[in-house]
Amino acid sequence: MTDIKKSILVVEDEPTLSAILCEYIEHAGFTAHSLSDGALVVNFVKEVQPDLIILDLMLPNKNGLDIYREIRTFSAVPVMMATAKIEEIDRLIGLELGADDYICKPYSTREVIVRAKNILRRNDKALDVHHSGLVVDELAMAVTYQRERVSLTATEFRILAFLYKNSGKIYSRDQLMNHVYSDHRVVADRAIDSHVKNLRRKLMEIEPALDCIKSVYGVGYKFDAV
Ligand code: CA
Repeated sequence: MTDIKKSILVVEDEPTLSAILCEYIEHAGFTAHSLSDGALVVNFVKEVQPDLIILDLMLPNKNGLDIYREIRTFSAVPVMMATAKIEEIDRLIGLELGADDYICKPYSTREVIVRAKNILRRNDKALDVHHSGLVVDELAMAVTYQRERVSLTATEFRILAFLYKNSGKIYSRDQLMNHVYSDHRVVADRAIDSHVKNLRRKLMEIEPALDCIKSVYGVGYKFDAV
């Protein structure tokens, strides 16, 4: 069986840093791609479809934030955002962009590789669920289990799609609300709880093993591979 190497795209305009990172990535058994020009990233991602992107925030021609937003319109590829400014990280988290991880420069290359491996492993888990028969199709806004349609409300779908895409990560009720209600309307915490409760019930009615949305006491919710 041929084992296809996973590929990681490094978007970094500092040549030395980029070269070191790529070297570590290759050494860890992945294929490394690198780009330094922000304007080239979106098309490259469409074409090459890397498994993970390490994205610098300050880039020539197009900044990382704009790139990230554009990528999210067509791809759920995990993105690790890198920045030299602590304040920027706060802002990113405040925006709830949902980037899979944030790294602060200067960073340890070793640490970046460890995190990259974790993210890729998390994604594999999500893929396993896919193979077990649960399919979350964001374009069609449809969820099926072994080809059987799971009937969800729009809000339930958004919650499931978001947790599924970010499988293994825990999100607070606030974070979920910000994601689910893009108009930032004020909704009681309990509203999210009741949506999640209905969602879990619907999934488990179809297959008791689909108990994949876990509540983490005092923190929030996460999607676990079944
Ligand atoms: Ca830069």
